Amino acid sequence: MRIILLGAPGAGKGTVASALHEKYNIAHISSGDLFRENIKMETPLGKQAYDYISRGDLVPDSVTIGMVEERLSAPDCSKHFMLDGFPRTLAQADSLDRFLAESNREIEAVVSLLVPDELIMKRISERRVCVSCAAGFSLTFNPTRVEGVCDHCGGQVIQREDDKPETVLSRLRTYYEKTRPLEEYYRARGLIIEIDNSKGLQPTMIDLECALRDRDIEFEGKS
Ligand code: AMP
Repeated sequence: MRIILLGAPGAGKGTVASALHEKYNIAHISSGDLFRENIKMETPLGKQAYDYISRGDLVPDSVTIGMVEERLSAPDCSKHFMLDGFPRTLAQADSLDRFLAESNREIEAVVSLLVPDELIMKRISERRVCVSCAAGFSLTFNPTRVEGVCDHCGGQVIQREDDKPETVLSRLRTYYEKTRPLEEYYRARGLIIEIDNSKGLQPTMIDLECALRDRDIEFEGKS
């Protein structure tokens, strides 16, 4: 399967992608995680991206597109992948189409995760992340067993700098302005699958797996 997960910050793209990765071993490409890794390693790309991310702005397409296309060239993405957080602009969507066409691949579905705004604000304020392995937690829905310590790798679990209230509003504004128009772009091509992600991961996974099967998108039996 080759899908894009679309939705506002806090809509649950990362959580759904991680669950699909765990269950079916499908490559999960998160542009936000790629940026955070680069920032942690202090690479030139990380240094370029840092200021934009801390302001809640998008990193310029000229930096972002190359980074994601390089990841999509890896062998584990040759047949199956999930894009989480990319594309976020029409220019990125356009480049992605052209890039995939070069290797005879195409996007099979775009999953739009629907969550009411009030729930988004609550989820973001309660979201925590492991600085070592990027695992996601929530203070209410999925807390760590030991406060501040990752259940998976023992790393430090923190609130992302850009999840703090002053940056979240700017990220939401950017989402409505630049990313929301992608829904219409993909709807016009019949690719949108809308999934209500306000009731928890289990019902979301059932709805999503049914929708993928309805469209004959291959994702089971992957090892
Ligand atoms: P995320 O983890 O997906 O919420 O991304 C965190 C931040 O990384 C975003 O607020 C942007 O600043 C930056 N970012 C992630 N993906 C993209 C993208 N496709 N285009 C531009 N900036 C991005």
